[in-house]
Amino acid sequence: MEKPSFHELFQTNKKSANRLKKSSCQERSSKLLALKKWIHSHKDSIREAVFKDLSKPPTEVDISEVSVVLQEISHALKHLKKWIKPKKVSTPLSLFGTKGYIHYEPLGTSLIISPWNYPFNLAVGPLVSAISAGCTVILKPSELAPATSALLKRMVKELFAPEEVMVVEGGKEEVQKLLALPFDKLFFTGSPATGRIMMEAAAKHHMEITLELGGKSPVLIDRGYSPKDAAQKIAWAKWLNCGQTCIAPDYVLVNDEIYDTFKQILVDTVLQMFPSKSNDISACMDYGRIINAEHHQRLQYLLEDARNKGATCLMGGDYDQGSYYFGPTILEGLEPNMDIMREEIFGPILPIIKYTLLEEAVDFINELPKPLAVYVFTEEAFVKDFVLENTSSGGVCFNDCAIQFGHTSLPFGGTNKSGMGKSHGYFGFKAFSNERSVLHQKSTINLLRNIYPPYSFKAKKIADLFLKWI
Ligand code: NAD
Repeated sequence: MEKPSFHELFQTNKKSANRLKKSSCQERSSKLLALKKWIHSHKDSIREAVFKDLSKPPTEVDISEVSVVLQEISHALKHLKKWIKPKKVSTPLSLFGTKGYIHYEPLGTSLIISPWNYPFNLAVGPLVSAISAGCTVILKPSELAPATSALLKRMVKELFAPEEVMVVEGGKEEVQKLLALPFDKLFFTGSPATGRIMMEAAAKHHMEITLELGGKSPVLIDRGYSPKDAAQKIAWAKWLNCGQTCIAPDYVLVNDEIYDTFKQILVDTVLQMFPSKSNDISACMDYGRIINAEHHQRLQYLLEDARNKGATCLMGGDYDQGSYYFGPTILEGLEPNMDIMREEIFGPILPIIKYTLLEEAVDFINELPKPLAVYVFTEEAFVKDFVLENTSSGGVCFNDCAIQFGHTSLPFGGTNKSGMGKSHGYFGFKAFSNERSVLHQKSTINLLRNIYPPYSFKAKKIADLFLKWI
């Protein structure tokens, strides 16, 4: 049988979207529950698929792919009834006698495009939000994680009617064809450069859009903070998934009073986290790999460009193109003209930079586009306030790194170059919903009639009074 075209798929989606608009909380919850059960019973398949794609250690898959998604589903199941319920709002004086509320209407047909770095989590997370909101979904996972993409296709086939949720596999060509269709919602997770392509395509059809992009998320370590605690948290967040995490620390600004202590502790911490004979981390089973040759070469370039311009390796700098291994690398002696200080690293290289004054560190952060996250290690309230007031980013995390992703009640996302729109929990539900405003006026008593033209003396008096009041 001939495969339906994308246009045909979209048309069936559109019909279902009208039906799903009226779907009850119970109906949506049962789908979420089925998804949760499927994930629980296919943990091994998920671990295997992500290992095939990224050599990600199984425990890391459990922590960063499976548990986050399960948490997202449980949170939605617990709160969906409240989210769906129309929200009453207070009435302004000018509309006295009316009643207003917000009705959450599913946006309709949605297209979710996901990346390869957390190939399960970042595809299923938005899917949970779309199902919660009552949208149909065409999901396009990353072609760079083919094993997970195939598993997602199988999962969706086993769980959902194709006219409600469908996985389309493929790369740029397939995305271009999908983007030509007038979806109601586009939810994209990927690089800022591809994000621009998505925006252009969305503009053609006035699609609602959420862009989850990336950027250079800085870490700032204040002089009074424990270098050991900071080093452990930074090392975990940086070398998790071999640095291929959108909210991984991109570079670290360290106060000069603790710089030397911190850098030594950081090296020791990395060696403890990835123990191996003769410090050959490539033999450590808990350390992942770079996704493919292209990204490996991109990282080689960033490292060699920095070295050629005077940076030195405090640790690592070793890589093997054949196995996609790239060792945990810490760089010193950075200069603004190095590409590594301009582009998102998205790999296991960590530049560390000394600063003296807080203002100087904050200026450094502000020279670059607004990042996805800003991390600050400090015990001082004024330092927290200063950074919060003088920088901008999608999120801020004090005294830890990357854990904000797992907070179901906080909005997740970037701002400007690092993204637009928010996801997770209620914010994810809202991303796939139209917050429709509904206003009820009484047919009998309508005070506003007094201000209709022709403008009488009474209407002028009411207007005068109102201007005095507001
Ligand atoms: P990417 O932009 O290359 O790819 C993402 C998706 O877009 C894939 O499904 C791919 O098939 C598609 N795509 C790629 N190029 C395209 C093109 N020219 N035309 C049409 N479609 C295209 O991103 P990636 O390499 O998969 O992921 C890495 C980037 O994603 C990093 O910048 C990272 O920071 C960001 N990211 C952000 C988040 C977040 O939640 N904000 C999460 C993970 C990754």
